[in-house]
This record gives sequence, C-alpha cells and structure tokens, in this order.
Amino acid sequence: MSSVELEYSGGCQCGAVRYKIAGPLGKASVCHCRMCQKAFGNLAAPLVGVPLTRFRWTRGKPGEFRSSAPVARGFCAHCGTPLYLLEDGDPNIELAICTLDNPNASPPTSQVGIEGKVDWADGLAQLPGRSTNDDNPLAAAGRYHSLQHPDND
Ligand SMILES: [Zn+2]
Ligand SMILES: [Zn+2]
Repeated sequence: MSSVELEYSGGCQCGAVRYKIAGPLGKASVCHCRMCQKAFGNLAAPLVGVPLTRFRWTRGKPGEFRSSAPVARGFCAHCGTPLYLLEDGDPNIELAICTLDNPNASPPTSQVGIEGKVDWADGLAQLPGRSTNDDNPLAAAGRYHSLQHPDND
C-alpha cells in the first residue's frame, strides 16, 4: 500500500458513513490547534487534503458542526467519529487520516497549529507500550469481539 494507490476507502467506526477517494492523496499534516483537539477529542488531528472532485460519499451522510465562520467539521451522526473539516470555497476536503481503511497510506509531512500543542505530545514516543490484547482479559479468554466496521466496504 502506498500513496500511488488508485482508490482509497474509509469511514466511521460504526460503518454508517463510508467514502471513496480516487488517488493520489494530497498533502498530509498533523494539526495541534485547540479547535482540532476539541473536534477530535484528541491531542491533535492528522488530516490529508483531497480534491472534492475526486472524493465521494458511498454510504450515509455525515453530520456537520460549524466550528468557525468559514469552517465546517463533519462527523458520523450515529457513532460520533470525526471525519473531516471543510473550509467554505476550498476545493479540497481535509480528511481525518485515521478514518482511511489504511491509515498508513498517508503519513503526515508537517505539523501545524503548534501554538496549541499539548506539553506531553513530544514525549509519547518515549512512553512504554503494550499491545491491546495485553490489557484485555476478554480477548485472552476468546470472549471479545469487535463491533467496529471492518477496514473495507
Ligand atoms: Zn458511524
Ligand atoms: Zn486545527
């Protein structure tokens, strides 16, 4: 998988909203601004620009919240997954990278909104790590099953 794939797909956690992109993907960045932190409920927002002419919704329609005069933020109205931001008149939609079925397809190449960066952001890579199943006794007992939509249509 790489940035030269012809078509990309993605969607929200529950699968009510799905999309497709005719490649290639555009410029990817991580935004640390306070608005993206709130909209994503996260330390930052990884976003990739895609021309609207090559983007289409294939299932459902997102809800929208206007976070500022020119900017709408889209999310799944059913499960709440943040999906995009779109500035009025911008020919590119900024998609949440990790809603792609292959989030590794679009590695960010810059950081923006760094005035909002949380103090602990740069230390994350140095923290000790464990896999999900290490902390999930249900999985260990074979009694865990995901209700998340799979990473394909
Ligand atoms: Zn959803
Ligand atoms: Zn931002």
